[in-house]
Amino acid sequence: MKQTNISVFVPHYGCPHRCTFCDQRSISGAQAPPSAEDVAALLAGQAPHLRDTETRAEIAFFGGSFTGIGEEYMRSLLTAARDAVRRYPDVYTGIRCSTRPDFIDDRILGILEEYGMTAVELGAQSMNAEVLRLNERGHSPEDVERAAAMIRERGFSLGLQMMTGLYGDKPGYCYETAERFIAMKADTVRVYPTVILDGTRLGELYKAGEYRTFTFDETIDICARLLRMFGAAGIPVIRLGLHASAEVEAKMLGGVYHPALREIAESRIFYGDMLAEMKRLGGTRFIVYTDPANISRVSGQRKENRRRLGELGYTFEIKSEKGTRLRIYALQDT
Ligand code: SF4
Repeated sequence: MKQTNISVFVPHYGCPHRCTFCDQRSISGAQAPPSAEDVAALLAGQAPHLRDTETRAEIAFFGGSFTGIGEEYMRSLLTAARDAVRRYPDVYTGIRCSTRPDFIDDRILGILEEYGMTAVELGAQSMNAEVLRLNERGHSPEDVERAAAMIRERGFSLGLQMMTGLYGDKPGYCYETAERFIAMKADTVRVYPTVILDGTRLGELYKAGEYRTFTFDETIDICARLLRMFGAAGIPVIRLGLHASAEVEAKMLGGVYHPALREIAESRIFYGDMLAEMKRLGGTRFIVYTDPANISRVSGQRKENRRRLGELGYTFEIKSEKGTRLRIYALQDT
């Protein structure tokens, strides 16, 4: 049985903030907030297809600050979602939403519980107080910890979202953010490298030459390390990088946006592991055994790993071995 999300974007509706990076309308791709009827129609329309393809789905309210959109409107959307879960229990397995940490309190969590919400994701973005301040988030790292604890205490699955490369960010701050996410016992994590959009405060700073984000290569190194950290803690990274969107592409001034970002970061992990093992084994020619599913990551996007290792004097042949992540055999140099 496959698992997916049916995403309902609720753009910036009711959000009193203007975070430096945010242009909700571009990111969500939707101009108007959906009505409860729109949500009901979407879910009813998707159900037969999901059933035919043996796919189960969570209904996901993303895009803005779901619990800040106004109670009446939020309840109407939740009613549509709860009705779909009741009507198609073989298809819809739960409801999730994303919101800000300061839009979480006992009363709000009580409402979410009433409608059968299963997971709440917090846009934390960074756990560095200065990065939060510079990016006009309007909440502190402690607000994230407080909201995360309340979400867990109520028994919801806890999702935490972070960004890399915001104004004032440093690689070390990203790793500290990951450490604090792990300490908060997140059930899932999403990592979004910053994309600088025209019409945002970051866009202004970028055009004025006052801000640069991490380069593509720096971002890949950071994301590879984050994947390792969360992997070691047993926390799934359920998203790395923004979804492809024509609006984002049209308004993007800079930053890191690539449809295969995760694949490239995973390849970077293989690169690091292969380099360490080749150095340990000694020699210059190797056979690399790996599961067929990993072959493209071993080789790297456009053979990047092969090229980089080649520049260091290492060559290798890949052989497929089911169930093996990485096993390297050194050939005798002749
Ligand atoms: S709180 Fe969320 S929706 Fe509001 S401006 Fe910031 S990122 Fe955008």
